[in-house]
Amino acid sequence: MLAHYIETKRAHPDCLLFYRMGDFYELFLDDAVTAAAALDITLTKRGQQAGQDVPMCGVPVHAYDAYLSRLVRQGYKVAICEQVEDPAEAKKRGGKSLVRREVVRIVTPGTVTEDTLLDARRHNHLVCLADAQGKLGIAWVDMSTGEFQVQPLEEKSVAAVLARLDPQELLLPDRLLQREALFEAFADWKQVMTPQPGSRFDSVAGEKRLMALYEVQALDSFGSFERAELAAAGALVDYVELTQKGKLPRLSAPRRLQAGAVMEIDAATRRSLELTRTQTGERKGSLLSVIDRTVTGAGARLLAAWLSAPLTDVPAIEDRLDRVQFFFDQEGLRGKLRETLRRCPDVERALTRLTLDRGGPRDLAAIRDALAESAVLRDLAGAPSLAPLPKGISQALDDLGRHGALVDRLGRALAPDLPVLTRDGGFIAPGYAPELDQLRMLRDESRRLIAGLQARYQQETGVSSLKIKHNNVLGYFIEVSTSHGDKLLAHEDFIHRQTMASAVRFTTVELGELEQKLSSAADKALAVELALFRDLVGEVTAHADAIALAANAIARLDVASALAELATDNRYVRPETTEGTEFAIAGGRHPVVEAALQAAGERFVGNDCVLEGGKRLWLLTGPNMAGKSTFLRQNALIAILAQIGGFVPAGSARIGVVDRLFSRVGAADDLARGRSTFMVEMVETAAILNQAGPRSLVILDEIGRGTATYDGLSIAWATVEHLHAVNRCRTLFATHYHELTQLAEKLENLACHTMRVKEWQDEIVFLHEVAAGAADRSYGIHVAKLAGLPAPVVARAESVLKKLEEGETGATSARISEDLPLFAAMVQRPVAAPAQPTGPSPAEAALADINPDELTPRQALDALYRLKGLA
Ligand code: ADP
Repeated sequence: MLAHYIETKRAHPDCLLFYRMGDFYELFLDDAVTAAAALDITLTKRGQQAGQDVPMCGVPVHAYDAYLSRLVRQGYKVAICEQVEDPAEAKKRGGKSLVRREVVRIVTPGTVTEDTLLDARRHNHLVCLADAQGKLGIAWVDMSTGEFQVQPLEEKSVAAVLARLDPQELLLPDRLLQREALFEAFADWKQVMTPQPGSRFDSVAGEKRLMALYEVQALDSFGSFERAELAAAGALVDYVELTQKGKLPRLSAPRRLQAGAVMEIDAATRRSLELTRTQTGERKGSLLSVIDRTVTGAGARLLAAWLSAPLTDVPAIEDRLDRVQFFFDQEGLRGKLRETLRRCPDVERALTRLTLDRGGPRDLAAIRDALAESAVLRDLAGAPSLAPLPKGISQALDDLGRHGALVDRLGRALAPDLPVLTRDGGFIAPGYAPELDQLRMLRDESRRLIAGLQARYQQETGVSSLKIKHNNVLGYFIEVSTSHGDKLLAHEDFIHRQTMASAVRFTTVELGELEQKLSSAADKALAVELALFRDLVGEVTAHADAIALAANAIARLDVASALAELATDNRYVRPETTEGTEFAIAGGRHPVVEAALQAAGERFVGNDCVLEGGKRLWLLTGPNMAGKSTFLRQNALIAILAQIGGFVPAGSARIGVVDRLFSRVGAADDLARGRSTFMVEMVETAAILNQAGPRSLVILDEIGRGTATYDGLSIAWATVEHLHAVNRCRTLFATHYHELTQLAEKLENLACHTMRVKEWQDEIVFLHEVAAGAADRSYGIHVAKLAGLPAPVVARAESVLKKLEEGETGATSARISEDLPLFAAMVQRPVAAPAQPTGPSPAEAALADINPDELTPRQALDALYRLKGLA
């Protein structure tokens, strides 16, 4: 057996092998060690190999999915090796013959279909990147719903597209791993990558694969694909087939996403704007968590997908907005519709399981219930008394409620209480199949007769404690206590079966016959049930495409009504989107900060942002904590919300669609990649300056902060000039360098704004209002005081500041240090005031030449020795 295990393992080297042995899946050798640690289960041993103990661990079959889920979530792949014949068959073949086992499925993070392994409200994307003829193509599928898409892409957008798709698993030819230009893009996805030999990504084979799958002679009707897209799509389908061991789920026809069809948002921007997850990786606190009012799993997934990929096509955006508007206006209908939607089970995922032969009776019930509710939805939304329906909604209704016959059949077929598995039967309702009813009657009749026997035998033998019992080894038997054993042994009808410590067991010819009848009726009944189940599944899969359309319609109605509900609850308005480059938000608010403030009983101050009328670049100054970053982000989020077709938190909004959104806000050290904050900031700024165009929206927060003042100021200065003259994009630029406001005189399209602050009794009050003009002071010391810096530090800082401000007329830092050394009064021992040289000392000069951000640790040490020598 171990030899077979090792052979099977060799065929699946990158998987943990679950090897079925009776009621357990066992793992051996290295797999056992890995799994025992990952699952925190006991590692045992069994037998020996080459004189060494063989490590082993196992999980019970009845509860395996919990273990499987933990492994898959940790990124492991699991090959499931089942017994594919009855152990009795193996015995027949002779003495030590092994039960035949085969790998029936490979479970990988991107190909799971079980509800227990999936997050109901999140897509599960299996993504495949490929290259051909010097170009790149990407294909992705959500196996659990069958949604399949492809897109051509350029090297420089790989990172952004991957960030958008958020793959659970990423397939790619190993040669792409060597491509230096992609190192950066892959850095975040190392954990989910499955590199494959390059030969699997052949575009000719891919094209053939797709034509065979969809039974067409040419793929033209799906769109015109580039070779790289075909290679990616083909390899993807192959991989799915490989992991499902030949079975394919229903895959929708591949939909091609045109380049530029969605707003491009790079990975850093997505992270910093916290669209679907916060920077710490949680859903709570993200934009999605605040705007998500969907009530179905499919709706939640669709909304998340929309949020990841805002549109750029104005008519498509307006279509979505029309749908939201409809439900915004029809409040009564919306309530009823959402009630109905709440009762809709997850059809998409049930359908996939059924098409993969992995479904159970409850999946059929899910289809029945969702389709039944969909008829209710259609009648609700299609009621003639309502306003004319927007196109998107009438289309959705067309796809709903067409399945009366199927609903009726499933309704009649399925029993009210359904088991999870088909294995034990009992899921077909009485009255559906006369043959089944007959067999069940026979079975029940025999059961009753057996129960009747007990009374008769008690009477006949005079043993009132005589019982008829059942267990899996003996089947039915008659049991009496030891003291009555002899009485029955003497009776000619009773045949002795077993003597226990306290009881003796018998059978009779009559009991045997009844049991025979019962079990054959039960076996036949189960066989009939299973056949009926297959029929029903066949019927469902025959309608799979139409059912998938209905499922999608349910999701779209859910999202539209949820966005309308959100708009009503939170006072959002319908934005106007245009092909131009205007950006006019009146009274805009930050959806997430507003929600947080609301929860605390505080009010968010709305602010205008008008990047038009020749002023497309706003320079924003103001103290820390005044609300600069909030303002920057809220405008980016409003653009995103508008372009997913949602209402926006503002008094009014007119937005020329944004093709690419860039942000450079709040970088943190990227220690994993060995980069300082400043380096991260510069990499991100470089990307913006190289890529932003006239239709882009850029938000930049405090650039240049991570280096020496003059360096930082100069970089910020040059960046503003470049954005203004070359990129010509709409830009919000928050800065603490007040010097930059001088640019307003030079640059025609730049306007200065500031966060208003009120000084009151020597305190400052943040008004959170954006006003025209520049901040006159930075109030950094005030904020430091608020943060609890010790009073002497605050006082000293104030005096240094005063000197520095005077310094604009000639003071140097040397003059400041002429004062008493800082905190002299607080130090117990006397401090000798150092004599001040007139100019910078050699050590100071050398120090000024050092840029710590550019030093390796070795160079830093060398510099330290050099400085020591100079002092
Ligand atoms: P800055 O970037 O200027 O340092 P932030 O944008 O981080 O300031 O804002 C600091 C805090 O001020 C936020 O956490 C929020 O609670 C509050 N705030 C910001 N903008 C507003 C606003 N428009 N209305 C009410 N509170 C606000």
